[in-house]
Amino acid sequence: MGPSKTMTEPARSTGPVLVAGAGIGGLTAALALARVGHKVIVAERSPELAEVGAGLQLSPNACHVLEQIGALDAIHGAGFEPEAVRIRSARSGEDITRLPLGSSLRKRFGAPYLVVHRADLQRALFDTANKHPEIEFRFGHKVAGLEDEPDAPVRVRFETTSGSTNIDAFAVIGADGVWSALRGMIPGHSEARFSGRTAYRATVSSSRVPDDLLTDTGLWLGNDAHLVHYPVHGSKDFNIVALIEEDWTEKTWSGSVDRASFLQHFGRWAPEVKALLSVPDTWLKWALCGVDGSGPWTHGRLALLGDAAHGMLPFAAQGAGMAIEDAAVLASCLKPGTDSPVAALKTYEAKRKDRVVKVQQTAVSNGKIYHLSGPMAFARDTVMRLAPPARLSSRMDWIYGWKPPA
Ligand SMILES: Cc1cc2nc3c(=O)[nH]c(=O)nc-3n(C[C@H](O)[C@H](O)[C@H](O)COP(=O)(O)OP(=O)(O)OC[C@H]3O[C@@H](n4cnc5c(N)ncnc54)[C@H](O)[C@@H]3O)c2cc1C
Repeated sequence: MGPSKTMTEPARSTGPVLVAGAGIGGLTAALALARVGHKVIVAERSPELAEVGAGLQLSPNACHVLEQIGALDAIHGAGFEPEAVRIRSARSGEDITRLPLGSSLRKRFGAPYLVVHRADLQRALFDTANKHPEIEFRFGHKVAGLEDEPDAPVRVRFETTSGSTNIDAFAVIGADGVWSALRGMIPGHSEARFSGRTAYRATVSSSRVPDDLLTDTGLWLGNDAHLVHYPVHGSKDFNIVALIEEDWTEKTWSGSVDRASFLQHFGRWAPEVKALLSVPDTWLKWALCGVDGSGPWTHGRLALLGDAAHGMLPFAAQGAGMAIEDAAVLASCLKPGTDSPVAALKTYEAKRKDRVVKVQQTAVSNGKIYHLSGPMAFARDTVMRLAPPARLSSRMDWIYGWKPPA
């Protein structure tokens, strides 16, 4: 499997753009590409929309794109706009600082900061795409190979339940997630690696959670672990994510959790946070894996997008945001009917890479800061307590202030 050797620019190409993967990146890409005039086929390995996952934070940079592709209103209805991020010490339970979100960010950046369940986001994107006359879906299609010859459409081979099938396309977008099959077809590609961190996620009814936790995003900083929570499903439910430094010994990259041994991680945390952690009856865990975004993302008429290109730690809450930004930039570079799709995809990669790598680095650095212990944690908390909230917030302006090409 893999693209064949000759990667010279083909003669003027026609036909649909093929997007592999109906996750957040693939669905946004389908809508962004259709918006500029492409016909799009989305091929997804699952037999139906795989509405898995938990909560996601969507900052104004991502919301601008969602607005541009006509999906923001539906997402806003299913999401929630927190007033602030309330940061607390997991050990003492004391407040460290509260950074404004809500109307403050909306006013500064012209788009909201939303929290939403991944399933609601994916459903809203799918429903919008499914109504679009130029977007077609093929479920139960798993990428199995690719042929890219000059002067011919690029051909992707899929495995389906009824055997193997080919789809010919003008260009192929690999939005097939962190374990991307299409990434393996790019010479010199980065490999996905386990980060040494695990995410434990649970969703409970908001009625089981104290009212004072329902207005803000909560962030609790502890030694070698932190906790994030916020309302989802239009604030009907409450999403809790605990992120812990530990080894991964399971055979698969996600799994069920032994509740008692999970709760032992937090034995020395403050009573109010322990009470919150004991609310969910079940937790699911995910190994956090990443892909170095500085590796190649394109080869011939194949380009990667989202986690396939640059899966990242969730500590800047930007994995989906960067996939969504990728989609908008890709659509602005790949004009319908262009006679140079290879060059267009290279331009897309060049426009995105520095920013995405910098966001990946920010996520790594946030992880180190969040998990400090002893005197270093004390120093961090003191600096955060003393700094004006607006100044602390402004550290994210370079991420939140991004806008998609027109
Ligand atoms: C704990 C945690 C918290 C997070 N919090 C945030 C947050 O607050 N904000 C944020 O922006 N991001 C967050 N993220 C990251 C975010 O979830 C991902 O970056 C984002 O969902 C990636 O989207 P994607 O479309 O690239 O990949 P995916 O969502 O993984 O979609 C890939 C799709 O491709 C399909 N597929 C896979 N292989 C094949 C194949 N061979 N053929 C065909 N189809 C295939 C899959 O079935 C899937 O539908 C978080 C992640 C985690 C783990």
